[in-house]
Amino acid sequence: MISGIVFDIQKLCVHDGPGIRTTVFLKGCSLRCFWCHNPESLKHKRELMFFSEKCIQCKQCMASCTEGVHTLENGVHKLERTKCKACGACVSQCMTKALSMAGVTMTVNEVIDEVMKDVEFYKMSNGGVTFSGGEALLQIDFLEAVLAACKQNNLHVAIETAGNVEWQNFERILPYVDLFLYDIKMIDPIKHKQYVGADNTRCLSNVERLIKGENNVIVRVPVIPSINDNDNEIEAITHFVKSINKETPVELLPFHKMGQTKYESLALDYEAQHLEAPSQETMERLNVITSKK
Ligand code: SF4
Ligand code: SF4
Repeated sequence: MISGIVFDIQKLCVHDGPGIRTTVFLKGCSLRCFWCHNPESLKHKRELMFFSEKCIQCKQCMASCTEGVHTLENGVHKLERTKCKACGACVSQCMTKALSMAGVTMTVNEVIDEVMKDVEFYKMSNGGVTFSGGEALLQIDFLEAVLAACKQNNLHVAIETAGNVEWQNFERILPYVDLFLYDIKMIDPIKHKQYVGADNTRCLSNVERLIKGENNVIVRVPVIPSINDNDNEIEAITHFVKSINKETPVELLPFHKMGQTKYESLALDYEAQHLEAPSQETMERLNVITSKK
């Protein structure tokens, strides 16, 4: 049975497509947006997260780890992460949940069993299931199989994507997808590479093909202070989308810092530390631009 690496399954979601939904987050991403609020999504492998503020220094993890990853030095709990095999033994011993494992290997049937638990909510709200990431289309064999199973169960399926994959990956899932939530961050390819880590030629060409192919697409733009929170950037994205199809919605999602503690738990630098969420006034002004046809 084919399997994939899932890092979260969130129930009762209301912002990832119509109605009440379950959102399944697949691990691994080909972009590196410095403001990403899911840093545990980036690598396509399991990773140990350590939330130091929850640690009571009981040393249970030190006793359970055969690799010597955890040490207590001068009253400070340290991790030698390069030695970690992501076996999870220490996680199960940690009573305070200071340790957790980002990423679990799941079969198609295990994912379907989980999402079907809320099928009554989907029915009463015209909701369904959303697959997000990371970049969900990178695990294309697993995604194709799990989407086919969703359709066998008559579920409404949405995909959140930034589209930085081969078009062939989209072709494989088109028969099963009811809605694409397509993330566009900026139009300028040089700026895109500077802030996101990759050229956006493929991202823009894929969304154009989806829209021209009469797939159901909502474009979503994360509004990042000092990067794209100005009229010119939002106008450029809106113009790009509306020139393909003026009926395609463009929605704005304000930057937030809710992922900050996760960076610390993975020992990663949080480069968006200095940013603040855009003001309501800014969001209202930019929303006027995206609502024009
Ligand atoms: S088991 Fe948990 S609480 Fe105890 S020392 Fe390890 S991380 Fe801290
Ligand atoms: S996940 Fe396994 S190898 Fe990694 S620190 Fe915990 S017990 Fe050690």
